[in-house]
Amino acid sequence: MTPSHLDSADAADALTRLGRRISAAGLVVGAGGNLSVRTGPDEILVTPSGCSLGELDRVDLVTLGLDGQVRKGEAAPSSESYMHLAAHRARADAVVAVHAHPPYANLLAATGHPIRLITLDHAYYVRRLAVVAYLPSGSQELADAVAARLAEVDVVLLVHHGCLLVAPGAEAAYERVANLEAAATATYRALLLGDRTTVCPPEYLALIEGREAAARAAVSGNGG
Ligand SMILES: [Zn+2]
Repeated sequence: MTPSHLDSADAADALTRLGRRISAAGLVVGAGGNLSVRTGPDEILVTPSGCSLGELDRVDLVTLGLDGQVRKGEAAPSSESYMHLAAHRARADAVVAVHAHPPYANLLAATGHPIRLITLDHAYYVRRLAVVAYLPSGSQELADAVAARLAEVDVVLLVHHGCLLVAPGAEAAYERVANLEAAATATYRALLLGDRTTVCPPEYLALIEGREAAARAAVSGNGG
């Protein structure tokens, strides 16, 4: 069975590498965005407040209990820690949570244009999106609204702000946030072409989700 957390050393490596990739891909600006990894059943490692994701130092990472108490670390935890804690409480299967400010996704969400999943990769990595209307950043209200949406989807758009998404690992998290922004960019370009309807054929998602369900059923049927 896939473990639903990483040990602390692996989690620190995963966060620093993921931060560099997200920063290099232009999915945050300046000190925007923050990341977390589950390091135990009731514990996460989170990025510090006011730090560029491209320049994370593992000594600045902060360990929090899921109750929000600091367990280890000198730096102040991310200002969006409530949202990360709420995401991990809501989704025991989530190992990594990413909050980024992808520019095209933000533009479309703020102007009321739904982001369309157009290619197979968009559909495979993003699956489904939910939207949360503006709420103050760093607030418990925002954290609660995001956690409620995560019952149905892995990717939540925060209007006028960014996104919060969860994934079973760092690689999947990067693919998810990068494909969210790719889908938003493709949607923007489709709108410029006058296209308002094109999406990836829904039967593609039905096919892959059918295969995944069959694989899970086979594992549980084997007593695994
Ligand atoms: Zn933010």
